[in-house]
Amino acid sequence: MRVKKTILALFAIAALLFSSFSLFGCEAFGYRKLERTEHRFFDTVCTLVGYEKSEKEFAAVADKVFTMLEEYHKLYDIRNAYKDINNLYEINKVVNGSHRKLTVDERIIDLILFSKEAYALSGGATNVAMGSVLSLWSKAREEYEELGSCNLPSEAALKAAALHTDIEAVEVDRENSTVYISDPGITLDVGATAKGYATEMIARELENMGISGYMLNFGGNVRVVGSKPSGDDWSVGIEDPRADSKDPFLRIIETSSAAVVTSGSYHRYLVYDGKKYHHIIDPDTLYPAQYYISVSVISDNSGMADALSTALFTMPIGEALDLINSIDGAEAMLLDINGELHFSQGFDSLTKK
Ligand code: ADP
Ligand code: MG
Repeated sequence: MRVKKTILALFAIAALLFSSFSLFGCEAFGYRKLERTEHRFFDTVCTLVGYEKSEKEFAAVADKVFTMLEEYHKLYDIRNAYKDINNLYEINKVVNGSHRKLTVDERIIDLILFSKEAYALSGGATNVAMGSVLSLWSKAREEYEELGSCNLPSEAALKAAALHTDIEAVEVDRENSTVYISDPGITLDVGATAKGYATEMIARELENMGISGYMLNFGGNVRVVGSKPSGDDWSVGIEDPRADSKDPFLRIIETSSAAVVTSGSYHRYLVYDGKKYHHIIDPDTLYPAQYYISVSVISDNSGMADALSTALFTMPIGEALDLINSIDGAEAMLLDINGELHFSQGFDSLTKK
């Protein structure tokens, strides 16, 4: 069943990526478009696309990128322990009735502080301290993926879990590089922010190394690093998830630097009593958010785009548009459950279609 999930994810992400070919393409400059895909990280499909003159040059960059991605994957993993690493799994672990204060890698401190910012910015809609609630849903989803059927989490269990979601109890000491969760009932689930944040950090690392002409797509978190060698922008297609759509893309974004991140209800879900229950949970109802099929956010920061796409997904349209319009340098497109599209004020200036 794990295989089935991966194939589904692959299919969805293949549809998300779109690269235009101009008449005077990069091939004319001696560059080739090269690609590497890995399935080992963040429980999703991760693809790097870039233009280089030789496979060797591309491989050198790809090795760097996937080495960094593996490090982030291990640090941010909430399900597995790794030798000699205090990762999120260790932070979440309760030993003798309480969490431990652990000294952790700076990249964990940064992610948690970033996730706290996302919490504040979104008015609590994206809350990585909601692990107790989210794990009830992910357990049910995994059972469904494994067996083809499952029970829903009980209302009582959800309500009991919701008592332990206060992000203030996640204590971060940057100076001493420690993290401590003061409520033993709280666990972190960074599914809404970690992939986008890691994507952004890796993209910036490439920029610092002077590397350009690359596109990262880590599980639907697309981040472009510099224009193509021809000087052309990249074209990033936003998938139309509606079954009856004729065109595979809702819109095409032209960019040489932005992140395009989509949260959707159609990749990860369980079915109970004929009804779909997807993986983005409204913190107010503790059930899957009701308003959208997909929400895409475009920003110069992939971490912010990831956090915001999840947040907007849980908000009614008026509230979602108010939030995105109040944030400088971020735009959104929201496909509601009736199939209607909504846009933030500056969205149109970014699109080709
Ligand atoms: P994806 O991971 O599919 O790209 P998202 O970025 O929207 O989608 O993140 C969804 C994941 O985030 C869920 O699988 C879950 O782990 C977590 N999550 C779901 N709802 C929330 C929420 N309201 N706040 C914080 N995390 C959430
Ligand atoms: Mg997200």
